[in-house]
Amino acid sequence: MLTAICGINWGDEGKGRMVDLLSSDYDVVVRYQGGNNAGHTVINERGKFILNLLPSGILREGVVNVMGNGMVIDIKHLFGEIERLREAGVSVTPENLKISAEAVICMPYNVLQDCLEEERLADKKYGSTKRGIAPIYGDKYLKKAVRMGELFDKKRLKERLKDIVEWKNLTITGVYGAKPVTTEEMMDYLTRYGDPFLPYIGDTGLYLDGAAKAGKKIMFEAQLGALRDIDFGIYPYTSSSNTIAAYAPVGAGVPNHKLDLSIGIMKAYSSCVGEGPFTAEYFGEKAEELRKAGGEYGAATGRPRRVGAFDVPASRYGIRMQGADEIALTKLDVLSGFDEIEVCTAYELDGKTITEFPFSADLDRCKPVFTKLKGWKKDISACRKAEDLPQEALDYIRFIEKATGAYIKYVSVGASREAYIVLDK
Ligand code: GDP
Ligand code: MG
Repeated sequence: MLTAICGINWGDEGKGRMVDLLSSDYDVVVRYQGGNNAGHTVINERGKFILNLLPSGILREGVVNVMGNGMVIDIKHLFGEIERLREAGVSVTPENLKISAEAVICMPYNVLQDCLEEERLADKKYGSTKRGIAPIYGDKYLKKAVRMGELFDKKRLKERLKDIVEWKNLTITGVYGAKPVTTEEMMDYLTRYGDPFLPYIGDTGLYLDGAAKAGKKIMFEAQLGALRDIDFGIYPYTSSSNTIAAYAPVGAGVPNHKLDLSIGIMKAYSSCVGEGPFTAEYFGEKAEELRKAGGEYGAATGRPRRVGAFDVPASRYGIRMQGADEIALTKLDVLSGFDEIEVCTAYELDGKTITEFPFSADLDRCKPVFTKLKGWKKDISACRKAEDLPQEALDYIRFIEKATGAYIKYVSVGASREAYIVLDK
């Protein structure tokens, strides 16, 4: 059984929270793309955890976690993330964490490059998390990246790294006028932060293939949402990798397997981190009210997130791109305080009303068309069954279900593990 848990929107839909909940049924949890620009918040009986690189299944005993070939790994960051978990009593060993030899290492000069480029862009910046993600994915496709499996042969690694550093310094010094890095520094870095992971590195594709054939339940955990996918997202305000579920078997190293189930995580309103068009966006006091109610501040960066109404065209597109068979609608409880709840049901583009999500570049000219629904003004965070929900909350769910054509199976009404409702079809 191969299941993908993926984001329908811009990210931060609550994927970490849903993976933590649903992974109780699974034997293996895999991250298949992205790096430590992700921030997945998990709250359970052991405390509150923010995971950037590790699959959310790391918090479940008995679950094997895999960091797939599609990922870019900042080894120093991973080192720190594991230390913090260990301090909280979570065990991380080669038994419950496996790292693909083919995963790429995000280097300190990639982080430097990311920062230098955002500085150069000044007010034209993309809103990068400055964790080196775009530069390292660039290096990967230019075939100038170091992979985790290369840490085993230092002699060979040093030879390759020498050429890479020489090439990278042309950019660092020539383009940005910054201080060059040295091969020695980079080798020291790779030894210091890379070597502790040697027992964890291996052929994770082979492991997963065996696990799938043995009938194990495998969950693929996406970072970010469909609208940040490098191909199908709001380019160039996207991430640098494929976030979509269809990429999961590739980024995990099992392209010979097909997904059995795609579960889309969709937020009951919209939030977006960084720059770029965000059609249903709220501003001023209206935004502040929703931001506060939803605690919309970045898990990785602490930045206030942009917020807005639920966006039907964008979500319907996200559902299609993710091939979502079922949906978990999250953070419905956040909307409890409002008299009326707006939903963006269409866009106006050059005087025409459109309901399909347009080509990214046209989004700049799109204006939201809002419909108003009645609020429920009742705390729903203790509801555990559909019957517990106020009629207006049920109406809101059914409205979204109809407008997006999705099947909403789960409704999350709080951040903790048990705060959810399962709906009948
Ligand atoms: P992810 O990147 O998709 O894993 O999501 P984040 O962790 O970045 O952001 C989701 C935030 O919402 C986290 O702070 C969660 O603890 C919180 N959260 C998740 N589901 C719910 C919910 O149903 N209600 C409320 N109030 N908070 C939630
Ligand atoms: Mg997040």
